[in-house]
Amino acid sequence: MCGIVGYLGNKSAKDVVIKGLKRLEYRGYDSAGISTLQNNKLEITKTQGKVSDLIAEISTGTHTGGLGIGHTRWATHGIPDNKNAHPHSDNSGKFTLVHNGIIENYQSLKQLLSDNGITCKTDTDTEVLVQFMGYLHQKEKLDFIDTVRLALNQVVGAYGIVVLCEDYPDMLIAARLGSPLLLGIGKDEFFVASDSSPIIEYTRNIIFLDEGELAVITQDQYEVRNLSGNEIVTKEIEEIEYNLDEIEKGGYDHFMLKEINEQAYTISEALRGRVNSEESTVTLGGIYDWIQQILDAKHIYITACGTSWHASLIGSYILEELLNIPVKAEYASEFRYRETAVNSDSVVICVSQSGETADTLAAIRKAREQGALTLGIVNVVGSSIARETHCGVYIHAGPEIGVASTKAFTGQVTIFNLIGILLAQKKGCNLEKIKPIIDDLDALPGLVQSVLDQGNEVFPIAEDFMDVENFLYLGRGYQFPVALEGALKLKEISYIHAEGYPAAEMKHGPIALIDDDMPVVFVVTARGYNKIVSNIQEVRARGGKIIIITSEENAELQEYSDHIIQVPDVSHCLQAVLTTIPLQMLAYHMAVLKGCDVDMPRNLAKSVTVE
Ligand code: GLU
Repeated sequence: MCGIVGYLGNKSAKDVVIKGLKRLEYRGYDSAGISTLQNNKLEITKTQGKVSDLIAEISTGTHTGGLGIGHTRWATHGIPDNKNAHPHSDNSGKFTLVHNGIIENYQSLKQLLSDNGITCKTDTDTEVLVQFMGYLHQKEKLDFIDTVRLALNQVVGAYGIVVLCEDYPDMLIAARLGSPLLLGIGKDEFFVASDSSPIIEYTRNIIFLDEGELAVITQDQYEVRNLSGNEIVTKEIEEIEYNLDEIEKGGYDHFMLKEINEQAYTISEALRGRVNSEESTVTLGGIYDWIQQILDAKHIYITACGTSWHASLIGSYILEELLNIPVKAEYASEFRYRETAVNSDSVVICVSQSGETADTLAAIRKAREQGALTLGIVNVVGSSIARETHCGVYIHAGPEIGVASTKAFTGQVTIFNLIGILLAQKKGCNLEKIKPIIDDLDALPGLVQSVLDQGNEVFPIAEDFMDVENFLYLGRGYQFPVALEGALKLKEISYIHAEGYPAAEMKHGPIALIDDDMPVVFVVTARGYNKIVSNIQEVRARGGKIIIITSEENAELQEYSDHIIQVPDVSHCLQAVLTTIPLQMLAYHMAVLKGCDVDMPRNLAKSVTVE
């Protein structure tokens, strides 16, 4: 979701900002803009559309100098058009600002501005904030830093912002509340960005701004203060752990295809140093000190959004099966606003690829307030959820750029298995239940590779069904969340309406949709085999087209299917990793055949930092 880049140094700010915005494109956006400051003169160029459209708008000879900010907008207030694109400026033209998030009290601030003769030019909440800065600056005769600080102290909502002021030609101010921002510390140069991808080619040294912090950056130094008390905060410089090639396409047509194909590797990374198959043990340093407290919990909640919620559903089945504790998976957007029974006897696990998902972050904060132990399963190292949970386990899938999550999902399912095994062992569960899962974990990267090697087998399915308008995905048990995930992948990137259901639920509604044109994907494994075969028959009887993804190979399934894809058979808790991959591939091929923008599907955003 929306990207921010800021630069102060000796390079061309325009070049650094534009390149940075290109790196942030994967997050999903609808318009882009840049502002630079040189010779006490602010220049702004912005446009609806892509960063390439922005580049086309920039006239030669403009935007010179080494101080600039840029933005890719994901509209929340006001349609995506040229005027609503960021950066925004106040009516005096002194201040310019880029913003990620939502200013919730923008209406009352707008009223105050209007009462004082200041009219906004755009429909955004963001412009209200920068106008408010201009108003305070003039009224209170404040300097740049105090203007920003005072304005932010009166804001309700969420923001990551970077601000420039015409009177301060070598100063950049950044602040964060609810939307991620980090600083890059180079040699005689500084960067600000909403994630590390625009920074990594210049420096590996970064500082994560924490909630309610404001950074003042000048040519040769930076200072971080908290917004509430204005005290200086000492920040630790951390190191970016991945390499530049991990955020580039590396010869693939799309990031999504690259990421699907990385899954044998990313799963081996998730397992690395954590599984000892000879001794049948699992080690997870990130939760080591909390194991007893987790085992003492009376109930476990798992909370997440989107694909991570599907992984959480699988996680809830794994943990309940292995630990015999009630476990409930719930959408974070519901959990955060519901009156839950969460208390100090609860463990709340939250799952997020980016570690910045706004609803999930809010859910975990609420759980902490209610006394629960919180555990994060995230991919991005150092992200907000990673830092705000008591303990956690990283997925180690490397940067995921494709908006449709793939390798993070299989990584999350793998991690739930590790957590389940570790806790079950500590609980004294008998080894017979655990040993086969550990053996399968050992073999998993190789098995994933074998599924990837047959990835093109789904291509004829995509060709057959690329023109349909609806798809149904059905599974039972562990394969029900896989059906949800398969359907989500398809609708996300190919815009075909797709629904996932527990197979037995079909007869309570979706069966009404079945006709000769309706493709139905069944995910079939040994568990519940006979039951799902009956569901297949029910669809056949009504003329539906049958696509089967299965770990079982037999003549019966061959006979009943129009298309069948076979994957290796592993422990139930792990099977989702293998059955999901052909569904990822199917969605990918359908989207490509339909000419859709696979990596940046319309309206969608990666790292959903607004609620
Ligand atoms: N709320 C702001 C707007 O709609 C910022 C959106 C964003 O995060 O990109 O302009």
